[in-house]
Amino acid sequence: MKKLIILVAIAAIFLAAHYFGIDSYLTLDGLKQGVNQLQTLNATQPWLVVAIFSAIYIVLTAVSFPGAAVMTLGAGALFGVVGGTIVVSFASTIGATLAFLASRYLLRDYVESKFGSRLKAFNTGIEKEGAFYLFTLRLAPVVPFFVINLLMGLTAIKTRTYYWVSQLGMLAGTAVYVNAGTQLAKISSLKGILSPGLLISFTLLGLFPLIAKKALNLIAKRKVYAHWKKPARFDQNLIVIGAGAAGLVTAYIAAAVKAKVTLIEAHKMGGDCLNYGCVPSKALIKSAKLAHQMRHADRYGLNAATPALSFKAVMQRVHKVIADIAPHDSIERYTGLGVNVVQGYAKLIDPWTVHIKHNDGRECTMTARSIVIAAGAQPFVPPLPGLQDVGYVTSDTLWDEFVKRDEPPKRLVVLGGGPIGCELAQSFARLGATVTQVEMADRIMIREDVEVSDLAMKSLHADGVNVLVGHKALRCELRDGRKFLIMEHTGQRIELEFDDLLCAVGRSARLAGYGLEALGIDTHRVVQTNEYLETLYPNIFAAGDVAGPYQFTHVAAHQAWYAAVNALFGQFKKFKVDYSVIPWTTFIDPEVARVGLNEADAKSQNVPFEVTRYGIDDLDRAIADSDAHGFVKVLTVPGKDKILGVTIVGTHAGDLLAEFVLAMRHGLGLNKILGTIHTYPTLAEANKYAAGEWKRAHAPARVLALLSKYHTWRLG
Ligand SMILES: Cc1cc2nc3c(=O)[nH]c(=O)nc-3n(C[C@H](O)[C@H](O)[C@H](O)COP(=O)(O)OP(=O)(O)OC[C@H]3O[C@@H](n4cnc5c(N)ncnc54)[C@H](O)[C@@H]3O)c2cc1C
Repeated sequence: MKKLIILVAIAAIFLAAHYFGIDSYLTLDGLKQGVNQLQTLNATQPWLVVAIFSAIYIVLTAVSFPGAAVMTLGAGALFGVVGGTIVVSFASTIGATLAFLASRYLLRDYVESKFGSRLKAFNTGIEKEGAFYLFTLRLAPVVPFFVINLLMGLTAIKTRTYYWVSQLGMLAGTAVYVNAGTQLAKISSLKGILSPGLLISFTLLGLFPLIAKKALNLIAKRKVYAHWKKPARFDQNLIVIGAGAAGLVTAYIAAAVKAKVTLIEAHKMGGDCLNYGCVPSKALIKSAKLAHQMRHADRYGLNAATPALSFKAVMQRVHKVIADIAPHDSIERYTGLGVNVVQGYAKLIDPWTVHIKHNDGRECTMTARSIVIAAGAQPFVPPLPGLQDVGYVTSDTLWDEFVKRDEPPKRLVVLGGGPIGCELAQSFARLGATVTQVEMADRIMIREDVEVSDLAMKSLHADGVNVLVGHKALRCELRDGRKFLIMEHTGQRIELEFDDLLCAVGRSARLAGYGLEALGIDTHRVVQTNEYLETLYPNIFAAGDVAGPYQFTHVAAHQAWYAAVNALFGQFKKFKVDYSVIPWTTFIDPEVARVGLNEADAKSQNVPFEVTRYGIDDLDRAIADSDAHGFVKVLTVPGKDKILGVTIVGTHAGDLLAEFVLAMRHGLGLNKILGTIHTYPTLAEANKYAAGEWKRAHAPARVLALLSKYHTWRLG
């Protein structure tokens, strides 16, 4: 309503200006006549004339009424060079800022909702360099004055910045016009006032700060190399430190484009994902799920049975799965692809040189034009007093530790309510451990919507996991060989006895010990990179967990492409990492899969959205499988089928999500998913039914009412 009032007010002022013939004064002849009329008043009451003139100037500029140039000439004629320049400088800037604010208020939300994601990069640019661009535009009036006001209102530039840059940027042009206005009688056309020479000078002046800033950046970039001596020749085009997902893919791409590339790995090829992360945890989840299904076989018409499981055999299977997948990441495979694989510890000694301590004790140095750091992350172990005394396992150590055991841990404490903690807590509970999961926050899986956390908690409870949320671990105690965790919950001290403790409270990037400190590379939580994955040194890149912001294998692989291409071909073209569509899945049962925004994100980012939900309890295949639980929740742009984000909870949710990831990546809406044939009966049909729910909610009521009438008429 407010918007409508403002719009009507602007239109009314516009029409009134026409009605009262203001535009007739905004021609050269009209101006000359108007100035003559005002001269007498100006001689006796100059402040009144200044006030009236300024008010008219501000109002006309605010409603984008054409004629600012003519009025500026008038200011020269009335108030002289200095006075005129001051009056116009303030009046035009205030008016321009009002027009800018009106445009922002009336149109920004609409533009954001329509082009929000596409505008993100533009707005980031404006936030960083908007003042420079505006200054250039203001100095060189190639774009009409009112267009700048209206367009800038749609960007993220701050009002204060807009005001002062406009005032400064318009000053020179204003002075030229005001000066010309002092000779008003001699002016016969507006055209000659800004000669082409003057225009070019202004443009150059406007571009100067931008060019200066770029030049300073370039100098700063070069300066970082000042302390170092660049080798005359390089041994390699690229050195990659770490052979996890990020390092392997980087090396693979480099070899594929025939670069000379060395991949250095200190420990196991395949990194965390293969040896301690995705692969072993998913192998464990499979065995645990089977044990769970045996226990609940009566749901399928079979006799329920307590699985006679050998914990050792389960853990041995985990190791066998790792061994079966290991050839995909092996030295042999990568050597075959053309990568020089080195087993050793790498340390940066200058921006182009890496010292390698080979695992067999040899040492050497190697140079490369570019280096990619892909050193990954490691489990974060909180500084809990007594933790070292009671002992603990992490995702790094549990696989080797538990494979030695015949029995699952009796009383297992899992510290941490994130995805890794949840997956492992559920699995070990299903394999016979008595599990207590301890989370400090008031819910588990805090990144997901509350209803998802609630469902996850319910399913963990159903598997016998005692989930303690809002419990802060204070310390561990070892008393007479017995282990205790001391916690605090709503001000009370709680004590829990346990046999094993699994620490799963997060993973921190590997930042120390391999030369980042000596090179001065910024390492606040992760290796700091720009959007091209360049570190402080434009020839040193970082990718994967060590660089963040996500900690997933598929994101590490995604970044690897950018790191490899920018490192090898950045001198021709550099690519900014695209994080616009990032999916992930937590592999508890039922799985929780997500891409894009959930409701909490959308609310916190002020993104307008509609929610469409389809309950998987209604899906034929899920019912047939006795897996009828969970939902597909899709967030869309209000009134549109454009997908903003999807959360799926259910069996194989991670696989179901792929269709939405593809849709979002390629701008396909729910109508396209609805128009796609999905095999019956599959779980994937849930996606189509979710799209169907959206369609039903957006059925054209009026057309349907007409159709109903038409069909009634056709009955005869
Ligand atoms: C239990 C668990 C379950 C997970 N489940 C999933 C999942 O289901 N899906 C998913 O997407 N992600 C999952 N992850 C996360 C995934 O494992 C990581 O995101 C991924 O491994 C990151 O790969 P990376 O290449 O960045 O690092 P890493 O895999 O950690 O590789 C880094 C490598 O660098 C080596 N290195 C470090 N410093 C040096 C040096 N100076 N010289 C030589 N070598 C060095 C290390 O030895 C290591 O091998 C899981 C993680 C854990 C712990």
